[in-house]
Amino acid sequence: MNYSGTAVSEGVAIGTVYLYQRARPQIEAYSAGTPAEEAAAYDAASLAARAELETLRERLLSAGDQEKADIFGAHLELLTDEVMDGEIREAIREEGLSAPQAVERVFTAYAALLSQMDDPLIREREMDLRDVCGRLLRGLAGEAEEPSLSRLPGPVILVAEDLLPSDTAALDREHVLGIVTEVGGSTSHTAIIARSHEIPAVLGVREICRLLHTGQEIILDAVEGTIRTEWSEEERASYEKKRRQVLRRQARAKQYLACTPVTRDGVRIEVELNIASADPKELEPARYTDGVGLFRSEFLYMGRDQLPDEEEQFQAYRRVLLAYGDRPVVLRTMDIGGDKPLECLELPKEDNPFLGNRALRLCFQRPELFHTQLRAALRASVFGNLWLMFPMVASIEDIRRAKEALRKAREELGAQGIPYAPGMKVGIMVEIPSIALLADKAAQEVDFASIGTNDLVQYTTAVDRGNPEVRQYYQTFHPAVFRLIGMVVRAFSQQGKPVGVCGEMGGNPLTAAVLLGLGIRRLSMGAASLAPIKELVCAIDCEQAREIAETVCACSTAQEAEEYLRGWFDHLICQEE
Ligand code: PEP
Ligand code: MG
Repeated sequence: MNYSGTAVSEGVAIGTVYLYQRARPQIEAYSAGTPAEEAAAYDAASLAARAELETLRERLLSAGDQEKADIFGAHLELLTDEVMDGEIREAIREEGLSAPQAVERVFTAYAALLSQMDDPLIREREMDLRDVCGRLLRGLAGEAEEPSLSRLPGPVILVAEDLLPSDTAALDREHVLGIVTEVGGSTSHTAIIARSHEIPAVLGVREICRLLHTGQEIILDAVEGTIRTEWSEEERASYEKKRRQVLRRQARAKQYLACTPVTRDGVRIEVELNIASADPKELEPARYTDGVGLFRSEFLYMGRDQLPDEEEQFQAYRRVLLAYGDRPVVLRTMDIGGDKPLECLELPKEDNPFLGNRALRLCFQRPELFHTQLRAALRASVFGNLWLMFPMVASIEDIRRAKEALRKAREELGAQGIPYAPGMKVGIMVEIPSIALLADKAAQEVDFASIGTNDLVQYTTAVDRGNPEVRQYYQTFHPAVFRLIGMVVRAFSQQGKPVGVCGEMGGNPLTAAVLLGLGIRRLSMGAASLAPIKELVCAIDCEQAREIAETVCACSTAQEAEEYLRGWFDHLICQEE
Protein backbone atom coordinates (compact mmCIF):
# COMPACT_ATOMS: atom_id res chain seq x y z
CA MET A 1 0.00 0.00 0.00
CA ASN A 2 0.96 3.63 -0.50
CA TYR A 3 0.00 6.46 1.86
CA SER A 4 0.72 10.11 1.41
CA GLY A 5 1.15 13.24 3.48
CA THR A 6 3.27 16.37 3.59
CA ALA A 7 7.04 15.95 3.41
CA VAL A 8 8.32 18.45 5.97
CA SER A 9 11.89 17.34 6.52
CA GLU A 10 13.64 15.91 3.49
CA GLY A 11 15.12 12.42 3.45
CA VAL A 12 14.42 8.73 2.91
CA ALA A 13 14.21 6.08 5.62
CA ILE A 14 13.80 2.32 5.37
CA GLY A 15 13.05 0.56 8.61
CA THR A 16 10.58 -0.84 11.08
CA VAL A 17 7.65 1.03 12.57
CA TYR A 18 7.44 1.97 16.24
CA LEU A 19 3.87 2.96 16.90
CA TYR A 20 3.76 5.46 19.70
CA GLN A 21 0.36 5.99 21.23
CA ARG A 22 -0.30 8.19 24.18
CA ALA A 23 -3.12 6.78 26.22
CA ARG A 24 -5.68 9.39 27.18
CA PRO A 25 -5.67 9.70 30.98
CA GLN A 26 -8.63 7.70 32.35
CA ILE A 27 -10.47 10.49 34.08
CA GLU A 28 -13.95 9.09 33.38
CA ALA A 29 -13.64 6.78 36.38
CA TYR A 30 -12.57 9.63 38.61
CA SER A 31 -14.84 10.07 41.61
CA ALA A 32 -15.21 13.69 42.58
CA GLY A 33 -15.43 14.98 46.14
CA THR A 34 -16.51 18.31 47.62
CA PRO A 35 -15.11 21.52 46.12
CA ALA A 36 -12.61 21.69 48.98
CA GLU A 37 -11.46 18.12 48.29
CA GLU A 38 -11.21 18.83 44.57
CA ALA A 39 -9.13 21.94 45.22
CA ALA A 40 -6.83 19.84 47.41
CA ALA A 41 -6.60 17.15 44.70
CA TYR A 42 -5.70 19.81 42.15
CA ASP A 43 -3.03 21.21 44.51
CA ALA A 44 -1.52 17.76 44.98
CA ALA A 45 -1.50 17.00 41.23
CA SER A 46 0.02 20.37 40.49
CA LEU A 47 2.78 19.89 43.07
CA ALA A 48 3.54 16.40 41.75
CA ALA A 49 3.67 17.69 38.16
CA ARG A 50 5.98 20.46 39.24
CA ALA A 51 8.32 17.97 40.91
CA GLU A 52 8.33 15.78 37.76
CA LEU A 53 9.10 18.73 35.52
CA GLU A 54 11.83 20.01 37.79
CA THR A 55 13.50 16.59 37.82
CA LEU A 56 13.31 16.34 34.03
CA ARG A 57 14.70 19.83 33.66
CA GLU A 58 17.57 19.25 36.10
CA ARG A 59 18.47 16.01 34.38
CA LEU A 60 18.72 17.73 31.00
CA LEU A 61 20.62 20.67 32.42
CA SER A 62 23.21 18.44 34.00
CA ALA A 63 23.53 16.64 30.65
CA GLY A 64 24.27 20.08 29.16
CA ASP A 65 21.11 20.14 27.00
CA GLN A 66 19.88 23.67 27.58
CA GLU A 67 17.48 23.67 24.63
CA LYS A 68 15.47 20.67 25.81
CA ALA A 69 15.67 21.81 29.43
CA ASP A 70 14.00 25.04 28.30
CA ILE A 71 10.97 23.10 27.07
CA PHE A 72 10.36 21.82 30.60
CA GLY A 73 11.12 25.29 31.97
CA ALA A 74 8.30 26.62 29.78
CA HIS A 75 6.02 23.86 31.06
CA LEU A 76 6.78 24.87 34.62
CA GLU A 77 5.77 28.43 33.76
CA LEU A 78 2.45 27.23 32.33
CA LEU A 79 1.82 25.09 35.37
CA THR A 80 2.27 28.06 37.64
CA ASP A 81 0.49 30.57 35.39
CA GLU A 82 -1.62 32.68 37.73
CA VAL A 83 -4.45 33.34 35.30
CA MET A 84 -5.04 29.71 34.41
CA ASP A 85 -4.53 28.59 38.00
CA GLY A 86 -7.12 31.16 39.12
CA GLU A 87 -9.62 30.03 36.48
CA ILE A 88 -9.24 26.37 37.46
CA ARG A 89 -9.80 27.15 41.14
CA GLU A 90 -12.79 29.32 40.30
CA ALA A 91 -14.37 26.57 38.17
CA ILE A 92 -14.01 24.12 41.08
CA ARG A 93 -15.25 26.58 43.67
CA GLU A 94 -18.02 28.40 41.81
CA GLU A 95 -19.27 25.80 39.33
CA GLY A 96 -18.65 22.65 41.33
CA LEU A 97 -16.51 21.03 38.60
CA SER A 98 -14.23 18.16 39.56
CA ALA A 99 -10.50 18.90 39.45
CA PRO A 100 -9.97 16.98 36.14
CA GLN A 101 -12.97 18.70 34.53
CA ALA A 102 -11.74 22.12 35.57
CA VAL A 103 -8.17 21.46 34.40
CA GLU A 104 -9.33 20.07 31.07
CA ARG A 105 -11.74 22.93 30.44
CA VAL A 106 -9.32 25.75 31.17
CA PHE A 107 -6.34 24.23 29.33
CA THR A 108 -8.47 23.22 26.35
CA ALA A 109 -9.91 26.72 26.02
CA TYR A 110 -6.45 28.29 25.91
CA ALA A 111 -5.11 25.60 23.58
CA ALA A 112 -8.08 26.08 21.20
CA LEU A 113 -7.30 29.78 21.02
CA LEU A 114 -3.77 29.07 19.87
CA SER A 115 -4.57 26.10 17.63
CA GLN A 116 -5.98 28.31 14.89
CA MET A 117 -2.64 29.88 14.17
CA ASP A 118 -0.23 29.11 11.41
CA ASP A 119 2.71 30.52 13.19
CA PRO A 120 5.08 27.84 14.43
CA LEU A 121 6.09 29.64 17.61
CA ILE A 122 2.52 30.10 18.75
CA ARG A 123 1.50 26.60 17.79
CA GLU A 124 4.35 25.30 19.92
CA ARG A 125 2.70 26.97 22.91
CA GLU A 126 -0.53 25.17 22.10
CA MET A 127 1.30 21.84 22.17
CA ASP A 128 2.91 22.83 25.46
CA LEU A 129 -0.52 23.50 26.94
CA ARG A 130 -1.82 20.10 25.85
CA ASP A 131 1.29 18.52 27.23
CA VAL A 132 0.99 20.11 30.68
CA CYS A 133 -2.74 19.39 30.76
CA GLY A 134 -2.05 15.67 30.08
CA ARG A 135 0.51 15.60 32.88
CA LEU A 136 -1.96 17.11 35.37
CA LEU A 137 -4.76 14.77 34.31
CA ARG A 138 -2.49 11.73 34.61
CA GLY A 139 -1.60 12.86 38.11
CA LEU A 140 -5.28 13.26 39.02
CA ALA A 141 -6.12 9.84 37.56
CA GLY A 142 -3.27 8.32 39.57
CA GLU A 143 -1.50 7.11 36.43
CA ALA A 144 2.25 6.75 36.06
CA GLU A 145 4.29 8.80 33.54
CA GLU A 146 3.84 7.94 29.86
CA PRO A 147 6.28 5.61 28.15
CA SER A 148 9.11 7.78 27.02
CA LEU A 149 10.61 8.09 23.58
CA SER A 150 14.02 8.15 25.21
CA ARG A 151 14.17 4.35 25.26
CA LEU A 152 13.43 3.10 21.78
CA PRO A 153 13.92 -0.56 20.92
CA GLY A 154 16.61 0.10 18.27
CA PRO A 155 16.51 2.13 15.05
CA VAL A 156 12.84 2.73 14.16
CA ILE A 157 10.50 4.91 12.15
CA LEU A 158 8.36 6.63 14.72
CA VAL A 159 4.65 6.67 13.87
CA ALA A 160 2.29 8.67 16.07
CA GLU A 161 -0.90 10.65 15.96
CA ASP A 162 1.11 13.69 16.98
CA LEU A 163 4.19 14.41 19.06
CA LEU A 164 4.10 16.72 22.03
CA PRO A 165 7.04 18.90 23.05
CA SER A 166 7.85 16.58 25.97
CA ASP A 167 7.97 13.66 23.52
CA THR A 168 10.41 15.38 21.23
CA ALA A 169 12.47 16.66 24.14
CA ALA A 170 12.92 13.08 25.29
CA LEU A 171 13.47 11.77 21.76
CA ASP A 172 16.22 9.22 21.36
CA ARG A 173 17.60 10.89 18.22
CA GLU A 174 20.15 8.14 17.55
CA HIS A 175 17.41 5.59 17.09
CA VAL A 176 14.86 7.59 15.09
CA LEU A 177 15.20 6.93 11.37
CA GLY A 178 12.08 8.87 10.45
CA ILE A 179 8.84 10.35 11.72
CA VAL A 180 5.27 9.94 10.48
CA THR A 181 2.30 11.60 12.14
CA GLU A 182 -1.40 11.91 11.45
CA VAL A 183 -1.61 15.62 12.12
CA GLY A 184 0.61 18.60 11.46
CA GLY A 185 2.02 20.40 8.46
CA SER A 186 5.23 22.13 7.52
CA THR A 187 5.00 24.72 10.30
CA SER A 188 4.04 22.37 13.15
CA HIS A 189 6.18 21.72 16.20
CA THR A 190 7.08 18.23 14.98
CA ALA A 191 8.16 19.60 11.59
CA ILE A 192 10.47 22.14 13.20
CA ILE A 193 12.04 19.52 15.44
CA ALA A 194 12.41 17.04 12.59
CA ARG A 195 14.17 19.63 10.43
CA SER A 196 16.45 20.78 13.20
CA HIS A 197 17.50 17.16 13.93
CA GLU A 198 17.56 16.32 10.20
CA ILE A 199 15.11 13.44 10.62
CA PRO A 200 13.10 12.60 7.48
CA ALA A 201 9.44 13.30 8.26
CA VAL A 202 6.06 13.04 6.57
CA LEU A 203 3.16 14.56 8.49
CA GLY A 204 -0.58 14.79 8.03
CA VAL A 205 -1.02 11.14 6.96
CA ARG A 206 -4.60 10.36 7.77
CA GLU A 207 -5.29 7.43 10.08
CA ILE A 208 -1.77 6.09 9.71
CA CYS A 209 -1.73 4.78 13.30
CA ARG A 210 -4.59 2.47 12.43
CA LEU A 211 -2.98 1.35 9.19
CA LEU A 212 0.50 0.45 10.45
CA HIS A 213 1.73 -1.67 13.36
CA THR A 214 4.89 -1.86 15.41
CA GLY A 215 7.54 -4.03 13.79
CA GLN A 216 6.18 -3.60 10.24
CA GLU A 217 8.78 -2.66 7.65
CA ILE A 218 8.09 0.50 5.64
CA ILE A 219 9.81 2.90 3.27
CA LEU A 220 9.40 6.54 4.16
CA ASP A 221 10.03 8.89 1.27
CA ALA A 222 10.13 12.36 2.78
CA VAL A 223 10.99 13.91 -0.57
CA GLU A 224 7.73 12.94 -2.24
CA GLY A 225 5.73 12.66 0.99
CA THR A 226 4.87 8.94 0.71
CA ILE A 227 4.93 5.80 2.83
CA ARG A 228 5.15 2.40 1.21
CA THR A 229 4.41 -0.91 2.82
CA GLU A 230 5.25 -3.13 -0.18
CA TRP A 231 8.01 -3.03 -2.75
CA SER A 232 10.16 -5.14 -5.05
CA GLU A 233 13.89 -5.69 -4.53
CA GLU A 234 14.57 -3.27 -7.36
CA GLU A 235 12.40 -0.59 -5.83
CA ARG A 236 14.09 -1.03 -2.49
CA ALA A 237 17.49 -0.58 -4.13
CA SER A 238 16.31 2.58 -5.83
CA TYR A 239 15.08 4.02 -2.49
CA GLU A 240 18.44 3.10 -0.93
CA LYS A 241 20.12 5.04 -3.72
CA LYS A 242 17.78 7.97 -3.22
CA ARG A 243 18.50 7.94 0.53
CA ARG A 244 22.24 8.15 -0.08
CA GLN A 245 21.76 10.89 -2.67
CA VAL A 246 19.71 13.04 -0.29
CA LEU A 247 22.29 12.57 2.49
CA ARG A 248 25.13 13.53 0.15
CA ARG A 249 23.16 16.51 -1.09
CA GLN A 250 22.45 17.70 2.45
CA ALA A 251 26.09 17.31 3.53
CA ARG A 252 27.23 19.24 0.48
CA ALA A 253 24.66 22.01 0.95
CA LYS A 254 25.99 22.67 4.46
CA GLN A 255 29.34 23.67 3.02
CA TYR A 256 27.60 26.59 1.32
CA LEU A 257 26.29 28.21 4.48
CA ALA A 258 29.13 30.70 4.77
CA CYS A 259 29.64 31.34 1.04
CA THR A 260 28.69 34.48 -0.86
CA PRO A 261 25.73 33.64 -3.10
CA VAL A 262 26.75 34.45 -6.67
CA THR A 263 25.35 32.69 -9.74
CA ARG A 264 27.65 31.00 -12.23
CA ASP A 265 27.40 34.02 -14.50
CA GLY A 266 28.38 36.35 -11.68
CA VAL A 267 25.05 37.77 -10.47
CA ARG A 268 25.01 38.45 -6.75
CA ILE A 269 21.78 37.27 -5.09
CA GLU A 270 20.79 38.70 -1.70
CA VAL A 271 19.97 35.85 0.66
CA GLU A 272 18.11 37.08 3.71
CA LEU A 273 16.53 35.69 6.84
CA ASN A 274 12.94 35.60 8.12
CA ILE A 275 12.71 36.21 11.86
CA ALA A 276 9.93 36.58 14.41
CA SER A 277 11.67 38.15 17.40
CA ALA A 278 14.83 39.81 18.65
CA ASP A 279 15.86 36.64 20.51
CA PRO A 280 19.62 35.98 20.43
CA LYS A 281 18.87 32.54 18.97
CA GLU A 282 17.06 34.10 16.02
CA LEU A 283 19.84 36.59 15.46
CA GLU A 284 22.56 33.95 15.47
CA PRO A 285 22.49 33.18 11.70
CA ALA A 286 22.97 36.91 10.99
CA ARG A 287 26.55 36.35 9.89
CA TYR A 288 25.43 34.14 7.01
CA THR A 289 22.86 36.51 5.56
CA ASP A 290 22.53 39.78 3.70
CA GLY A 291 19.89 41.11 6.05
CA VAL A 292 16.45 40.39 7.44
CA GLY A 293 13.99 40.08 4.58
CA LEU A 294 11.01 39.69 6.89
CA PHE A 295 10.69 40.54 10.57
CA ARG A 296 7.23 39.24 11.54
CA SER A 297 6.61 41.89 14.19
CA GLU A 298 3.22 40.50 15.24
CA PHE A 299 4.96 37.91 17.41
CA LEU A 300 5.78 40.67 19.85
CA TYR A 301 2.04 40.98 20.50
CA MET A 302 1.24 37.32 20.91
CA GLY A 303 0.98 35.03 23.92
CA ARG A 304 0.61 37.85 26.45
CA ASP A 305 -2.18 39.68 28.19
CA GLN A 306 -0.99 43.23 27.58
CA LEU A 307 -0.01 44.97 24.38
CA PRO A 308 3.69 45.78 24.08
CA ASP A 309 4.18 49.52 24.58
CA GLU A 310 6.22 51.81 22.33
CA GLU A 311 9.36 51.45 24.43
CA GLU A 312 9.30 47.65 24.40
CA GLN A 313 8.80 47.58 20.64
CA PHE A 314 11.52 50.15 20.12
CA GLN A 315 13.99 48.08 22.16
CA ALA A 316 13.20 44.91 20.18
CA TYR A 317 13.56 46.62 16.78
CA ARG A 318 16.76 48.33 17.89
CA ARG A 319 18.30 45.02 19.00
CA VAL A 320 17.73 43.52 15.55
CA LEU A 321 19.01 46.62 13.76
CA LEU A 322 22.18 46.71 15.85
CA ALA A 323 22.82 43.03 15.10
CA TYR A 324 22.62 43.73 11.36
CA GLY A 325 24.64 46.95 11.09
CA ASP A 326 24.28 48.43 7.56
CA ARG A 327 22.39 45.47 6.19
CA PRO A 328 18.66 45.99 5.61
CA VAL A 329 16.12 44.83 8.19
CA VAL A 330 12.64 44.67 6.67
CA LEU A 331 10.19 45.23 9.49
CA ARG A 332 6.67 44.18 8.63
CA THR A 333 4.03 46.07 10.57
CA MET A 334 1.72 43.84 12.58
CA ASP A 335 0.00 41.11 10.59
CA ILE A 336 -2.63 40.18 13.16
CA GLY A 337 -6.35 39.67 13.30
CA GLY A 338 -8.47 37.04 11.61
CA ASP A 339 -6.74 33.74 12.12
CA LYS A 340 -4.14 35.29 14.41
CA PRO A 341 -6.16 36.51 17.37
CA LEU A 342 -4.46 38.21 20.28
CA GLU A 343 -5.07 37.45 23.93
CA CYS A 344 -4.44 41.10 24.68
CA LEU A 345 -6.95 42.42 22.17
CA GLU A 346 -10.64 41.62 22.01
CA LEU A 347 -11.47 40.89 18.35
CA PRO A 348 -14.84 39.72 17.08
CA LYS A 349 -14.95 36.22 15.59
CA GLU A 350 -15.20 36.19 11.80
CA ASP A 351 -16.60 33.54 9.46
CA ASN A 352 -13.84 34.09 6.89
CA PRO A 353 -10.86 35.26 8.90
CA PHE A 354 -8.42 35.08 5.96
CA LEU A 355 -10.66 37.47 4.05
CA GLY A 356 -11.40 39.57 7.06
CA ASN A 357 -10.21 42.31 9.30
CA ARG A 358 -6.52 41.48 9.48
CA ALA A 359 -3.16 43.23 9.27
CA LEU A 360 -3.34 46.69 7.70
CA ARG A 361 -7.15 46.68 7.83
CA LEU A 362 -7.04 46.19 11.56
CA CYS A 363 -4.41 48.92 11.85
CA PHE A 364 -6.75 51.35 10.08
CA GLN A 365 -9.54 50.38 12.43
CA ARG A 366 -7.31 50.71 15.51
CA PRO A 367 -5.12 53.70 14.57
CA GLU A 368 -3.71 54.03 18.09
CA LEU A 369 -2.13 50.57 17.82
CA PHE A 370 -0.65 51.36 14.44
CA HIS A 371 0.59 54.75 15.57
CA THR A 372 2.46 53.21 18.53
CA GLN A 373 4.17 50.71 16.26
CA LEU A 374 5.09 53.33 13.66
CA ARG A 375 6.59 55.58 16.33
CA ALA A 376 8.62 52.67 17.74
CA ALA A 377 9.87 51.72 14.27
CA LEU A 378 10.79 55.30 13.36
CA ARG A 379 12.66 55.81 16.63
CA ALA A 380 14.58 52.56 16.04
CA SER A 381 15.38 53.54 12.43
CA VAL A 382 18.40 55.63 13.44
CA PHE A 383 20.16 52.50 14.74
CA GLY A 384 20.56 50.71 11.42
CA ASN A 385 19.09 50.22 7.97
CA LEU A 386 15.37 49.83 8.63
CA TRP A 387 12.95 49.20 5.77
CA LEU A 388 9.31 49.41 6.77
CA MET A 389 6.80 47.12 5.06
CA PHE A 390 3.00 46.99 5.10
CA PRO A 391 1.28 43.57 4.84
CA MET A 392 -2.06 42.62 3.24
CA VAL A 393 -2.16 45.52 0.83
CA ALA A 394 -5.06 45.14 -1.59
CA SER A 395 -5.30 48.58 -3.19
CA ILE A 396 -3.47 51.83 -3.86
CA GLU A 397 -5.74 53.46 -1.26
CA ASP A 398 -4.34 51.03 1.32
CA ILE A 399 -0.82 52.19 0.50
CA ARG A 400 -1.73 55.88 0.64
CA ARG A 401 -3.57 55.48 3.91
CA ALA A 402 -0.69 53.61 5.53
CA LYS A 403 1.78 56.22 4.29
CA GLU A 404 -0.41 58.96 5.69
CA ALA A 405 -0.33 57.27 9.11
CA LEU A 406 3.45 57.11 8.80
CA ARG A 407 3.60 60.79 7.88
CA LYS A 408 1.64 61.66 11.02
CA ALA A 409 3.95 59.59 13.21
CA ARG A 410 6.98 61.30 11.66
CA GLU A 411 5.44 64.71 12.13
CA GLU A 412 4.71 64.01 15.78
CA LEU A 413 8.23 62.76 16.48
CA GLY A 414 9.62 65.80 14.65
CA ALA A 415 7.56 68.14 16.79
CA GLN A 416 8.85 66.38 19.90
CA GLY A 417 12.43 66.62 18.68
CA ILE A 418 12.83 62.82 18.60
CA PRO A 419 15.19 61.65 15.84
CA TYR A 420 14.33 59.16 13.09
CA ALA A 421 16.00 58.21 9.79
CA PRO A 422 14.46 60.50 7.16
CA GLY A 423 15.37 58.22 4.26
CA MET A 424 13.82 55.03 5.65
CA LYS A 425 12.56 52.89 2.78
CA VAL A 426 8.84 52.15 2.75
CA GLY A 427 7.44 49.14 0.93
CA ILE A 428 4.60 46.66 0.66
CA MET A 429 4.03 42.95 0.71
CA VAL A 430 2.55 41.73 -2.51
CA GLU A 431 0.40 38.85 -1.34
CA ILE A 432 -3.05 39.70 -2.73
CA PRO A 433 -3.66 39.30 -6.48
CA SER A 434 -5.35 42.70 -6.82
CA ILE A 435 -2.15 44.52 -5.92
CA ALA A 436 -0.01 42.12 -7.96
CA LEU A 437 -2.10 43.06 -10.99
CA LEU A 438 -1.64 46.74 -10.18
CA ALA A 439 2.08 46.38 -9.44
CA ASP A 440 3.04 49.09 -11.96
CA LYS A 441 0.88 51.60 -10.06
CA ALA A 442 2.00 50.32 -6.67
CA ALA A 443 5.67 50.67 -7.64
CA GLN A 444 5.08 54.41 -8.13
CA GLU A 445 3.95 54.73 -4.52
CA VAL A 446 6.63 52.78 -2.62
CA ASP A 447 10.37 52.13 -2.49
CA PHE A 448 10.29 48.31 -2.61
CA ALA A 449 8.10 45.21 -2.55
CA SER A 450 8.40 41.76 -1.10
CA ILE A 451 6.22 38.98 -2.44
CA GLY A 452 4.47 36.94 0.25
CA THR A 453 3.99 33.75 -1.68
CA ASN A 454 2.28 31.90 1.20
CA ASP A 455 -0.68 34.22 0.97
CA LEU A 456 -0.34 34.88 -2.75
CA VAL A 457 -0.91 31.16 -3.42
CA GLN A 458 -3.81 31.18 -0.96
CA TYR A 459 -5.58 34.16 -2.50
CA THR A 460 -4.83 33.30 -6.13
CA THR A 461 -6.10 29.74 -5.83
CA ALA A 462 -8.88 30.51 -3.31
CA VAL A 463 -7.62 27.93 -0.83
CA ASP A 464 -7.53 28.49 2.92
CA ARG A 465 -3.87 27.77 3.68
CA GLY A 466 -4.70 26.51 7.18
CA ASN A 467 -7.43 24.04 6.20
CA PRO A 468 -6.15 20.43 5.89
CA GLU A 469 -9.34 19.44 4.03
CA VAL A 470 -8.22 21.41 0.98
CA ARG A 471 -4.48 20.79 1.30
CA GLN A 472 -4.24 19.29 -2.19
CA TYR A 473 -5.64 22.48 -3.73
CA TYR A 474 -2.97 24.68 -2.17
CA GLN A 475 -0.61 24.42 -5.13
CA THR A 476 2.76 26.08 -4.70
CA PHE A 477 3.72 25.17 -8.25
CA HIS A 478 0.60 26.67 -9.82
CA PRO A 479 1.62 28.30 -13.14
CA ALA A 480 -0.82 31.17 -12.46
CA VAL A 481 1.15 32.11 -9.36
CA PHE A 482 4.44 32.09 -11.28
CA ARG A 483 2.90 34.30 -13.96
CA LEU A 484 1.65 36.77 -11.36
CA ILE A 485 5.07 36.92 -9.72
CA GLY A 486 6.62 37.58 -13.13
CA MET A 487 4.30 40.57 -13.60
CA VAL A 488 5.25 42.02 -10.22
CA VAL A 489 8.97 41.62 -10.84
CA ARG A 490 8.73 43.31 -14.24
CA ALA A 491 6.72 46.24 -12.89
CA PHE A 492 9.05 46.96 -9.98
CA SER A 493 12.26 46.33 -11.93
CA GLN A 494 11.17 48.68 -14.72
CA GLN A 495 10.95 51.43 -12.13
CA GLY A 496 14.28 50.46 -10.56
CA LYS A 497 12.65 49.41 -7.30
CA PRO A 498 13.89 46.32 -5.41
CA VAL A 499 11.53 43.35 -5.27
CA GLY A 500 12.13 40.20 -3.22
CA VAL A 501 10.31 37.11 -2.03
CA CYS A 502 9.81 36.31 1.65
CA GLY A 503 7.26 33.47 1.50
CA GLU A 504 8.14 29.77 1.65
CA MET A 505 8.81 29.66 -2.10
CA GLY A 506 11.99 31.63 -1.54
CA GLY A 507 13.40 28.92 0.72
CA ASN A 508 12.63 25.95 -1.54
CA PRO A 509 15.38 25.37 -4.14
CA LEU A 510 12.87 24.19 -6.77
CA THR A 511 10.70 27.30 -6.62
CA ALA A 512 13.65 29.57 -5.89
CA ALA A 513 15.14 28.55 -9.26
CA VAL A 514 11.96 29.78 -10.94
CA LEU A 515 12.02 33.02 -8.94
CA LEU A 516 15.58 33.72 -10.08
CA GLY A 517 14.46 33.07 -13.64
CA LEU A 518 11.62 35.55 -13.21
CA GLY A 519 14.16 38.18 -12.20
CA ILE A 520 14.04 38.03 -8.39
CA ARG A 521 17.40 38.96 -6.86
CA ARG A 522 16.45 38.94 -3.15
CA LEU A 523 15.24 35.83 -1.37
CA SER A 524 14.30 35.67 2.28
CA MET A 525 13.78 32.43 4.21
CA GLY A 526 13.96 30.47 7.45
CA ALA A 527 17.45 29.65 8.75
CA ALA A 528 17.30 25.99 7.65
CA SER A 529 17.01 27.04 3.98
CA LEU A 530 20.05 29.33 3.86
CA ALA A 531 22.59 26.65 2.88
CA PRO A 532 20.49 24.82 0.25
CA ILE A 533 19.48 28.12 -1.36
CA LYS A 534 23.04 29.39 -1.47
CA GLU A 535 24.04 26.08 -3.03
CA LEU A 536 21.35 26.49 -5.68
CA VAL A 537 22.42 30.05 -6.45
CA CYS A 538 26.03 28.98 -6.90
CA ALA A 539 25.02 26.10 -9.19
CA ILE A 540 22.74 27.97 -11.58
CA ASP A 541 23.19 30.69 -14.17
CA CYS A 542 20.61 33.34 -14.97
CA GLU A 543 19.97 32.20 -18.52
CA GLN A 544 19.29 28.66 -17.35
CA ALA A 545 16.96 30.02 -14.64
CA ARG A 546 15.17 32.17 -17.21
CA GLU A 547 14.47 29.11 -19.38
CA ILE A 548 13.16 27.24 -16.35
CA ALA A 549 10.82 30.11 -15.49
CA GLU A 550 9.62 30.35 -19.07
CA THR A 551 8.87 26.62 -19.11
CA VAL A 552 6.86 26.58 -15.86
CA CYS A 553 4.92 29.69 -16.84
CA ALA A 554 3.92 27.88 -20.01
CA CYS A 555 2.74 24.75 -18.13
CA SER A 556 -0.98 24.04 -17.91
CA THR A 557 -1.01 22.47 -14.46
CA ALA A 558 0.85 22.63 -11.17
CA GLN A 559 1.65 18.94 -11.46
CA GLU A 560 3.28 19.44 -14.86
CA ALA A 561 5.34 22.32 -13.47
CA GLU A 562 6.38 20.36 -10.38
CA GLU A 563 7.39 17.27 -12.36
CA TYR A 564 9.43 19.36 -14.74
CA LEU A 565 11.18 21.16 -11.86
CA ARG A 566 11.95 17.93 -9.99
CA GLY A 567 13.40 16.39 -13.15
CA TRP A 568 15.49 19.45 -13.79
CA PHE A 569 16.70 19.59 -10.18
CA ASP A 570 17.70 15.89 -10.11
CA HIS A 571 19.62 16.48 -13.32
CA LEU A 572 21.39 19.48 -11.81
CA ILE A 573 22.34 17.49 -8.72
CA CYS A 574 23.49 14.46 -10.76
CA GLN A 575 25.73 16.72 -12.79
CA GLU A 576 27.18 18.08 -9.60
CA GLU A 577 27.81 14.59 -8.17
C1 PEP B 1 3.48 35.24 3.08
O1 PEP B 1 2.25 35.40 3.07
O2 PEP B 1 4.11 34.68 2.17
C2 PEP B 1 4.28 35.71 4.22
C3 PEP B 1 5.59 35.72 4.16
O3 PEP B 1 3.63 36.13 5.32
P1 PEP B 1 2.94 35.16 6.38
O4 PEP B 1 3.37 33.75 6.07
O5 PEP B 1 3.43 35.62 7.71
O6 PEP B 1 1.51 35.41 6.14
MG1 MG C 1 1.30 36.78 4.45
